[in-house]
Amino acid sequence: MRLGQVTVVAGPTAVGKGTVLTRLRELYPELVYSVSATTRNPRPGEEDGVHYHFVTREDFEKMIADGQMLEWAEVHGLNLYGTMRQPVADAVAKGQQVIVEVDLAGARQIRQSMPEAKQVFIAPPSFEVLRERLVGRGTESPEEQERRLQTAREELAAQCEFDVVITNDTVEKCVADLAQVMGLA
Ligand code: 5GP
Repeated sequence: MRLGQVTVVAGPTAVGKGTVLTRLRELYPELVYSVSATTRNPRPGEEDGVHYHFVTREDFEKMIADGQMLEWAEVHGLNLYGTMRQPVADAVAKGQQVIVEVDLAGARQIRQSMPEAKQVFIAPPSFEVLRERLVGRGTESPEEQERRLQTAREELAAQCEFDVVITNDTVEKCVADLAQVMGLA
């Protein structure tokens, strides 16, 4: 059987990755989404095992020590986030298309360990639009917003490392571009 393809999706905070990936999922239900593990607290409406596996720092560190993580990173200098190796390997072996959402550090790790994965960066139309979206979302404190915007500056500077950069002007256009890059459309 043909092996599946892994697509790595990265992009700064509040760029709309969640919305874009939710829409892509509605259009292409056969895609497999890697559910990341994180030590951060769930936001309202987020479900354990669906949006993330919400785990303690101790459990996360044990998974790293046991070699269970394909990649992991301390994101925004605060919480650990990571992709579990086994579900991705299982889906690839079954010939499925897998989407892995990571930060810049995670994308760099996967570039080393899985060079065949396609690396896509979702960019905002401008830094100001990003700031407006983050502030408008209102789910982070002003200090956390500042920290995320600082990380976003660093991520935007590294977009040239990616195979493809897609600008999220509108969700529908961004989804269509991503589907095309993945060979779905
Ligand atoms: P949020 O807290 O807004 O859900 O995510 C914060 C950041 O963590 C996002 O930029 C997202 O790309 C990153 N992230 C989410 N899952 C993973 C993961 O599995 N690995 C890594 N390295 N970063 C992740």
